[in-house]
Amino acid sequence: MRLLLFGPPGGGKGTQATLLKEKYTIPHISTGDILRKSVSDGTTLGVRAKEHMDKGKLVPDDIMIGLVGEVLKSGDCNNGFILDGFPRTVAQAEALDVVFKELDIELDAVIYVKVDQEEIISRLSQRWMCRSCNNIFNTAIDTIDHNECPKCGGILYQRDDDKPDVVKQRLDIYEKTTLPVLNYYNTTGKLIEVDGTGNVREVYNRILAGVQK
Ligand code: AMP
Repeated sequence: MRLLLFGPPGGGKGTQATLLKEKYTIPHISTGDILRKSVSDGTTLGVRAKEHMDKGKLVPDDIMIGLVGEVLKSGDCNNGFILDGFPRTVAQAEALDVVFKELDIELDAVIYVKVDQEEIISRLSQRWMCRSCNNIFNTAIDTIDHNECPKCGGILYQRDDDKPDVVKQRLDIYEKTTLPVLNYYNTTGKLIEVDGTGNVREVYNRILAGVQK
């Protein structure tokens, strides 16, 4: 199964990817998670990416395209994958198709998880992440004790780019630069639009129904 999860920041892509990863036993490739790991490891990529991420801006296409190409060409993705957070520009979508041609593979579905701005702003202000397992929690739904991850015991933190002024910038970029990517996939017959509101299971069931169709 080769899936692409598309949608606004804070729209629940990461949470749904975790469930889909278990269901299909395929790797979850989150470009945001890869970049955050590089930042915390202090790699060259991390240092370059951080200056963009801190401002809520996109990391340049050449860096992202090289990064995702490398991951997809590694043997880990031979049995499928869930791509989350990439492509975020039309240039990235085009470059992704070039990589797919080289590998002689195709996507099975592009899942668009649709959530409106008001809901996103509220969700991002309540979002906590685990430094160890990257699981995502929402304080409106999940009970969190002493900032400890209920799944693995790791330390929970709030992302710097979930602060209100950075969120606004990320949403602007999403509207202007990332949403046009939907048109790119519109004609492929693989685009599945899913209502991203409601609880995690409801959204998950909508995604499964769409994929199975
Ligand atoms: P995410 O965790 O997907 O919300 O990504 C966090 C941040 O990483 C974004 O706000 C961008 O700065 C950067 N990032 C992640 N994926 C991409 C991408 N495909 N293109 C450019 N920047 C990205």
